[in-house]
Amino acid sequence: MEKTYQIPEENYSRVAGLVDKLNRRADKLGQPVISLTVIRKYVEAVGDGGIKKLEIKINGETPGVSGWQFVGALQHEQAGNILRALEELPEGYRTASPENCDHCGYIRNRANTYVLRSENEYKQVGSTCLKDFTGYADIHEVASYAESFLTTVEQIAECEDELAGFGHSSRVVSTLVFLAYAIRAIEKYGWCSRGKAAESGREATADAAGKMMSDRAELTEADRVAAQAVIDYISQNGHGKTDYEWNLRLLAEQEFISPNQFGFVASMPNWVASEKAKSIISNGQHIGAVGEKITVKVIVNEHKPIASDYGITHLYKMSDETGNTVVWFASNEILKVGQSTTLKATVKQHSVYQNVAQTVITRAKVQ
Ligand SMILES: [Zn+2]
Repeated sequence: MEKTYQIPEENYSRVAGLVDKLNRRADKLGQPVISLTVIRKYVEAVGDGGIKKLEIKINGETPGVSGWQFVGALQHEQAGNILRALEELPEGYRTASPENCDHCGYIRNRANTYVLRSENEYKQVGSTCLKDFTGYADIHEVASYAESFLTTVEQIAECEDELAGFGHSSRVVSTLVFLAYAIRAIEKYGWCSRGKAAESGREATADAAGKMMSDRAELTEADRVAAQAVIDYISQNGHGKTDYEWNLRLLAEQEFISPNQFGFVASMPNWVASEKAKSIISNGQHIGAVGEKITVKVIVNEHKPIASDYGITHLYKMSDETGNTVVWFASNEILKVGQSTTLKATVKQHSVYQNVAQTVITRAKVQ
């Protein structure tokens, strides 16, 4: 007998348990054991996600003695026979008379008969004739085992059924889609980690996003674009310095995620924001405090005249001795590119432009 099944991954342990239980019994009776093999793992697409599945193979000899194997049992009903079989049976067994026994030939009222096979020869044998037919004293134990074998195979087939509902471990969803919901949740309620949620009683971002997703809240194209940007940033800049960051990068590059990974994925936008903030620091720092008068030694890197309603404004981009960027919108052309000078000025604004910290100054005077 060889049968293949497609089961949700989470049902595997149940199948393995059924096989183990059957094999322990087979061992005791001196019957052949069966093997369970995983042929492949895959994701069956469903909507925006899917179900993690395994294709498995059950392989082995069916129970039997003296060269005869139990291949089926017939349950006699009014309209015909229910075939409980380990292999495709000859069609005649669909309507075979329950009163028949190929061994004794006596017509008896029988609820169940067995189908046994030796090579290509089939026999329908009544329960009471099994012992005579096989010449095996303990045949009823083997017959009972054969019944269990049939039941087990039926139970394994039931394991193909996907367990209903959302939140099963075999259920996977598109990383992009979940992330888009997480971004939505952060916009709506602010970022909240699972840890913070436990302390404060607020809802964690991962759970809020999960709810939105199971409610099938509508996603806009902008949500998806924002999620893709987060994924791209992590794939390009994720460094795996910590285990958490390693996991983040791995998940960003995975098409599907499981519900137990929602927490990681929901934290992605927050991680990206803090990484970007760090990279600003690595691209210079702000000087002084807004409103403060500072004296700073600069070199002029760029001069750009900008036309406005009030005439021409001169944009000067400069850097101080440690490489921090200083910006000045001057009303007159005062400085030249490449010039080194010391300016006394008031800090007008601390801004960020293309990941670079800029200190915007005003009322600057060349010292
Ligand atoms: Zn008989």
